[in-house]
Amino acid sequence: MPALQRTEARTRARLLQVHGYRIDLDLTRGETVFGCTTVIRFGSAEAGAATFLDLRPQTLRRAVLNGTELDPAALDGNRLPLTGLLAENELLLETDQNYSSTGEGLHRYTDPADGEVYLYATCGPDLAPLVFPCFDQPDLKAPLAIAATAPAGWTVLGNGAGKQVAEGRWEFEPTLPISTYLFTVVAGPLHSVYSEHDGIPLGLHGRRALAADLDREAVELFEVTRASFDRLHELFDQRYPFGRYDQAFVPEFNWGAMENPGCVVFAEEMLFHSAPTEAERAGRAMVVAHEMAHMWFGDLVTLRWWDDIWLNESFAEYLGFRVAAEATRFTNSWSGFAVKRKGWGYDADQRVTTHPIAANGLESVAEAMSNFDGISYAKGAAALRQLVAWLGDEAFFAGINEHFARHRFGNAELAEFLDVLAESSGRDVHGWAESWLRTSGVDTLRVQVAYQDGGERIASAELVPTGSRPHLVGLGVFDLADDGRPVLRESFEVEVGPGRPTALPQLAGAPAPALLLPNFGDLSWAKVRLDQTSWRTVAAALSRFEDPLTRAVLWEHARDLTRDGELPPSAYLDLVAAHLPGEPVDAIVEAVLTFGRLRLLPYLAPAERPAAEARLASAARELLARPEADQGLRQAALKSAVENASGPEQLAELEQWLAEGAYGQELSAALRWAALLRLTVHGVIGAERIAVELAADPGVTATEGAARARAALSGAEDKERAWQSLFDPASGLSNAQLTATAQGFWQSGSEQLQDAYLERYFAEIPAAGGRGDIVARSLGSHLFPAGRSTPEAVALAERTLAEGELTPVLRRVLADQLDDLARAARIRG
Ligand SMILES: [Zn+2]
Repeated sequence: MPALQRTEARTRARLLQVHGYRIDLDLTRGETVFGCTTVIRFGSAEAGAATFLDLRPQTLRRAVLNGTELDPAALDGNRLPLTGLLAENELLLETDQNYSSTGEGLHRYTDPADGEVYLYATCGPDLAPLVFPCFDQPDLKAPLAIAATAPAGWTVLGNGAGKQVAEGRWEFEPTLPISTYLFTVVAGPLHSVYSEHDGIPLGLHGRRALAADLDREAVELFEVTRASFDRLHELFDQRYPFGRYDQAFVPEFNWGAMENPGCVVFAEEMLFHSAPTEAERAGRAMVVAHEMAHMWFGDLVTLRWWDDIWLNESFAEYLGFRVAAEATRFTNSWSGFAVKRKGWGYDADQRVTTHPIAANGLESVAEAMSNFDGISYAKGAAALRQLVAWLGDEAFFAGINEHFARHRFGNAELAEFLDVLAESSGRDVHGWAESWLRTSGVDTLRVQVAYQDGGERIASAELVPTGSRPHLVGLGVFDLADDGRPVLRESFEVEVGPGRPTALPQLAGAPAPALLLPNFGDLSWAKVRLDQTSWRTVAAALSRFEDPLTRAVLWEHARDLTRDGELPPSAYLDLVAAHLPGEPVDAIVEAVLTFGRLRLLPYLAPAERPAAEARLASAARELLARPEADQGLRQAALKSAVENASGPEQLAELEQWLAEGAYGQELSAALRWAALLRLTVHGVIGAERIAVELAADPGVTATEGAARARAALSGAEDKERAWQSLFDPASGLSNAQLTATAQGFWQSGSEQLQDAYLERYFAEIPAAGGRGDIVARSLGSHLFPAGRSTPEAVALAERTLAEGELTPVLRRVLADQLDDLARAARIRG
């Protein structure tokens, strides 16, 4: 089934003008298919011309072009040839379409708690034909008029305003012109809460079983939604154009959220069934603002082709963090960006698979899918932050507003974006883009200091960059107070040219500082390397810096040194032991403990891991023992104390926590299942106990938790059963269950058993590509043997990449995993 190529899209865009779609869905036809009747009106620039329509039906029942019946057998893969076009055309399609269990197309979910059914459509980037036949490319925009027949008692949401016109019959007003990948419907016996702000009708929706969560969270969700609208309306000349603004929280969603105009869809985990940390709340506020920013960047003005996804994602990501920091109570959002989100991007930018932020020349949608990564999001946003620092707000937003005015309800690409910014600022934005957007990799900023007066004073200091980009960076100069606390003496900004040492005359003759910190304020995208004195200060006083953003930058620096093999894993654990228990920001605590558990453990030989786990757990317990630690910190620490619990004493304590709660609180469902997983891994409990716990509270968390725990049973038969369910396409696991099973698999089993599955993994994984990108991504990442950091495993992975027949997405996922595995094997030595 060929993915659309850029050249084909270009040809079709020149030929066609799509005037509108009428999409009528029948959601009452049972569990496997839904009916779809689509009418497309479109013009052709050339009479008699030929083109094709994209569709992936279960059955094409009927196709009628300008009154003439077409032969359904003409359907070729996912394309229906159309010939003899008139200047104006009408095309009618009647199709049966399959429901999805992988979140691709129209996903159907049965709630294990009450048997209710919920549906939602995901169409990006090229999945719309799984729901309705269309010309599926971003630059053929058209109004969509949606209608649906649904079971009685359901609510149906779509892009734009709709209502129930008769029992079970829903009709929506046509939207403004939008791209097909932005279509959605959400349907089921939804629980809804409504409000209004500044003339915009607002709605929040979720499963009925989550009604209490939705009602509780509605206050903050509406607050963040209103504040984000207000801030974006201050920044942009163009008001929000799409009418209603619904936000629906859905089960088994593959991404954080999706920016469908008028009807944003979120992973329902963001309703926080378990008590969230402050970092999770801040993260959600950022996502709410991110999706809203897409209403302008992405929905109003859309990329012309998928190689420009950064235009959508970097911008939404930048504004997501900025609006959260400026307009909501989450004023520390940039610290979360520095310590967590940027690490995702730095890792991606240092793998062999890295690519420029913009215009990578990807020809097919399938390849472009691989680039929904830390570079398109985190690095792109960091680059925009650097650009704004360099141009100033006024010129930046003048350019952006001109961009919206020129291309509203249309499409644009990189060149057009740069043109408006160059005009509004009068700066060499094209030159900046060459070095920032069309290159890959991370520059390093190194401080070099020479002293005089026996080390009392600085003789000279310079900032030495490696790499190809100019940077505008802050430099922080710190002294130590009498009690050993670092105090900021001064900070200033420096423009560093590409690859040239830049003298810092501000510091000549100044008293020797305790720390010179490049990239102070985190305005740029760069690794930093400190002089020896500065690093000693960090090691001694990391938790005592007052500014959370500075601590975030320093923890990221320590992580980077560890990944590069310049700081031994044991030294990183020393930092954790010394400074994490005193850290008050839960975003930092979470990021450090997550890195410790997921990345640092594979840097150690298996025999050394239990001791490292114990050190992580101890730091978490010390945090829990602090009387002033707030709720969010406690959640983050408790999670780590559970996940890293080892040894008979700590495992016995887990049983106690399950029975009586921990530190005065009942364990949330997610923590309960994390504890049960840990007990399963260590052979304390077995299949029977898992079944009893699942029966006691059969919700989403439990279903996935039980799947994860069952895969972690260590018996040979248990392992084989889990393996079969992962690799047999007929096993019917949903995307969420598949991922949970994959996550549990390697957590137990004898060395010998694991070796056997290691071989099988690399033999069987290529075939998973044929099961679609979501399954491939899940098995390629969550089931990848990341903990087996041995030369043998590296060799097996290398052979699969060299010889295996792999889809673009699977190839990319495996190459990323191999890069991390090889890095771990090198550090482990
Ligand atoms: Zn986005």
